[in-house]
Amino acid sequence: MKNESQKFFENTFTKLGFYYVFWYHPENFADGSLEPREAPFQPNLNEWNNDKVNLCWVGHSTYLINFYGTIILTDPVFSHRIGLYALITNLGRKELLLQQFKPEFLSCPDLILLSHAHFDHMDYPTLKYFSEKYPDKISVVTAFKTKDIFEDLNFKEIIELDWDEELKILDLKVKAIKVKHFGWRYPWEIDRNRDLKTGRSFNAYLIEKKGKKIFFGGDTAYTDYYKKFKNEKIDIAIMPIGAYKPWIHSHCNPEQALIMADDMNAKYFLPMHTRTFPHGREPWDEPIQWLKEAAPKI
Ligand SMILES: [Zn+2]
Ligand SMILES: [Zn+2]
Repeated sequence: MKNESQKFFENTFTKLGFYYVFWYHPENFADGSLEPREAPFQPNLNEWNNDKVNLCWVGHSTYLINFYGTIILTDPVFSHRIGLYALITNLGRKELLLQQFKPEFLSCPDLILLSHAHFDHMDYPTLKYFSEKYPDKISVVTAFKTKDIFEDLNFKEIIELDWDEELKILDLKVKAIKVKHFGWRYPWEIDRNRDLKTGRSFNAYLIEKKGKKIFFGGDTAYTDYYKKFKNEKIDIAIMPIGAYKPWIHSHCNPEQALIMADDMNAKYFLPMHTRTFPHGREPWDEPIQWLKEAAPKI
């Protein structure tokens, strides 16, 4: 039985978060600037059609997906900073690409998909915003041993999905897929890489509706895990392409992301995990340039 001070400590630090492994390297950005930039394009959601699949990259690993009328947000981060969350604000890294897609422009998402508990994917203030604006309305699917971070928030349901588990929810099939990454949110936590039963886990997801399949890659290093999906007829692979320097053992580079999508025989490739927060030490434009150069060869 935990005493009150233990509970206070754990709750406080769970909500505060912990600013870890990230730091600014202004010299690594192409123009040496840390000033936020304007997003180059904003889609008109009124043109989106519930009879189709519509996707929009919001920033970092946040995609807004209208999947035949089911509205999905992946790893939603609308905070202008990520990392240490203290009282009412985040104190971590500031975004470099202005997310013009403000959450207040969005209608209620039906489903939030969370890949893992890292701060650039599971942003407590953003989750709090949606849970307060749409109390009891939104389903959340998250990785094994991660829901404790936000289970005080008012969601319709929070479901932890473990590797290879499949769930039928909101006319969708959602399957959790193992990635090559790690799960701790704070350095002192137990990670799935160390303890299968109690460690924080990390997912990609395969989501399906009306015969169409979208793979959301979360965070992953290069791995050949995905070759087993070569006959799955995946339509769209959303893959991370940034933060590989110096973390190539937990984040793939753009060429590796393309190879993994190719291993899955995915028809379309959509990049993410780049050009939003100062994260990896590679130059700002390198991942997209590398992607453009590598794509014709793969
Ligand atoms: Zn991560
Ligand atoms: Zn990440």
